[in-house]
Amino acid sequence: MRTRRWIFSAVMRLLLRCLRIGQRHRFWPTQKVWQLWLYGRLCLRSLLYNSFTDSDTVLDALFEPVYWLVDHVTRWFGVVFVALVIILTSSVVCIVYVCLLPLILRTYPLPWIFWHFIYGHWNLVMIVFHYYMAITTQPGYPPQQSKSDVAAVSICKKCIAPKPARSHHCSICNRCVLKMDHHCPWLNNCVGHFNHRYFFSFCLFMTMGCIYSSISGWDMFWEAYAAIEKMKLLAKERLQMTVNQTYGQTPPPTFTFHQRAFHKSVVYAWVLCSSVALALGALMIWHAVLITRGETSIERHINRKEKKRLQKKGKVFRNPYSYGPLGNWKEFLGVDANRHWVTRVLLPSTHPPKGTGLSWDTTPCVPEQKTALLAI
Ligand SMILES: [Zn+2]
Ligand SMILES: [Zn+2]
Repeated sequence: MRTRRWIFSAVMRLLLRCLRIGQRHRFWPTQKVWQLWLYGRLCLRSLLYNSFTDSDTVLDALFEPVYWLVDHVTRWFGVVFVALVIILTSSVVCIVYVCLLPLILRTYPLPWIFWHFIYGHWNLVMIVFHYYMAITTQPGYPPQQSKSDVAAVSICKKCIAPKPARSHHCSICNRCVLKMDHHCPWLNNCVGHFNHRYFFSFCLFMTMGCIYSSISGWDMFWEAYAAIEKMKLLAKERLQMTVNQTYGQTPPPTFTFHQRAFHKSVVYAWVLCSSVALALGALMIWHAVLITRGETSIERHINRKEKKRLQKKGKVFRNPYSYGPLGNWKEFLGVDANRHWVTRVLLPSTHPPKGTGLSWDTTPCVPEQKTALLAI
């Protein structure tokens, strides 16, 4: 009886061992891969562990080479873009002076000549002045020397320096910029506290100039376009006559080089002006909306996120840097109540913006929101 029980337990032990061995062999590759994965993850975490790491940080790290490439390309292409703006604007101005002005002086009545002369030159001066000022004026940087004097609200992780309110780090300029709006490749400069007005005024006057040119040159454009179409038709007819060898017939009239150049220049200038009017006009309207709200382009994104976060908690978002639509425009243009509108807005003016850009008056808002905004 004892022997039988012993045999039974020995068989059961053997069976169990076999099952274990079988199990081990059956799942060996999966277990090995799983162990390798756990080991790799542990190694990676021990090497890269940071209590502040989250999905955004990981994404930033993964896209770092792309950001680096974009930053460097933008930095170098900025010079090309500025040259392009100057060349294209100069080409349109040359066409107006060489081709259109003699025609206007010959055919237009005196009041229209006077209007075009005054408005055209005022608009041109405003464009050139604001573009020059926008590319040559520094946007404003937090002081590097006396870091303790800066009313900082956070620390820039790239500069390892205090960052004043509304300042942001520009990865293309590689430094923090006061009230940074964006880095503009067309200016090859950052748009910040000290040149934001020049940038917006350039967009405004360039759009106005392009709209003015497109409207006043509408008839000339269609005449030139029709002439180019006729030119193509005559060239076809001439080719047909050569092929058929009908030399007896009178050849169709030809356009002179001057006429061809004139028509093509008018079409080129009109197409360029109307395209710029649409593209730059949309950008200008967007910036006008932001200025009315008292926001920069960067703050627009931050505020939108903040608004959604507070909405979930049943709270109302309020922009701490908004002083009402009119107040925001006065602040932006640097004009006092009922003063300076003509001299500072409608004429070239180099007046500095209000404040140093290092500290800002804030309007009352939800305490929790204020903390969140300042911590960005
Ligand atoms: Zn910085
Ligand atoms: Zn920049």
